[in-house]
Amino acid sequence: MPDTQDVVVIGAGPAGMTAGLYAGRDGLSTVVLEGQFPGGQATITDLVDNYPGFPEGISGLELTEKMQSQAEAAGVEIRLDRVVAVEADPEVPAWTVRTDGSSLVTLTVIVASGARPRKLGVPGEERFWGRGISCCATCDGPFFRDKKVVVVGGGDTAVKEAAFLTRFAREIVLIHRRDRLRASKVLQDRLFTTGDKARVLYNTVVAEIRGSDSVEGVLVRDVRSNETREIRCDGIFLFVGLTPNSNFLPASLKKDEEGYIITDDDMATSEPGIFACGDVRRKLLRQIVTACGEGATAAHSALQYVEEIKGVAYPGR
Ligand code: NAP
Repeated sequence: MPDTQDVVVIGAGPAGMTAGLYAGRDGLSTVVLEGQFPGGQATITDLVDNYPGFPEGISGLELTEKMQSQAEAAGVEIRLDRVVAVEADPEVPAWTVRTDGSSLVTLTVIVASGARPRKLGVPGEERFWGRGISCCATCDGPFFRDKKVVVVGGGDTAVKEAAFLTRFAREIVLIHRRDRLRASKVLQDRLFTTGDKARVLYNTVVAEIRGSDSVEGVLVRDVRSNETREIRCDGIFLFVGLTPNSNFLPASLKKDEEGYIITDDDMATSEPGIFACGDVRRKLLRQIVTACGEGATAAHSALQYVEEIKGVAYPGR
């Protein structure tokens, strides 16, 4: 099997780069495939202040650049190529990973493809996407200096990013569909100690995004009274959770109803030789530090699997 990789990692976020680092250091031939840009979602985080070792915090971009250089120093190739399918290879106990431009045969696959921001699915969203609607405060916050913005969501991301936006916007309205925020207390405290720029509108959903050339307002609905009204604003930031990037995987691989991959404690999926780690897994806590830990575990499981396959199917290798 001269052209068969030991490991193909799909996704170069913290989970994928840690999996690559461990696989590379274990001497496995390893390619990490990335469809967008190395670093994943973490790159758009302004300040990571809960990753051990950086008591003052570190920017998501800097942290993931360090991870990338460490993986590359371990001999791992990070290739920009989007995976479109993973199929069982008929010849050997292996998988074929198809990309936009090529295909790779590999004994193991580590899926670390993460998750992408969820959309609302309301009128105006597609029309104004990128014209006043954003999912990245670090990227687009500076465009809203002294403007009024709406932030949607009640989780950690919404509250953390709303606090970040207070650096730029003159007024922030956080719209949440429930009567209390889901975000951790430490993040809520951070938002509410930034001054009086931000206020929360509870029990409210966005029904429509309005404007002419770009966003000029949102139509909101009170979920208890069903009353609607318009809030004028210059921009809208959506932080309403994540959708896993898992639709390129074989239909036989077990996922939950939302598409998150189900694994055991060793990151093994229902398909032999396919492992998963990071935000694409079904789990409780989605953090950089958990993604890294899972990446290390997935690589170790892949190593054991590769050794077993080579010993059994190709004795003496
Ligand atoms: P999340 O925890 O799933 O929160 C999504 C929020 O959006 C929830 O408040 C949810 O409302 C709301 N929502 C979902 N669909 C909606 C819709 N159609 N319309 C209106 N609101 C909607 O997602 P997240 O905040 O992106 O966090 C993802 C993971 O990353 C979490 O595990 C989080 O802890 C972690 N994270 C950690 C940090 C950190 O600094 N530690 C920072 C960011 C993210 P409900 O509350 O009603 O469900």
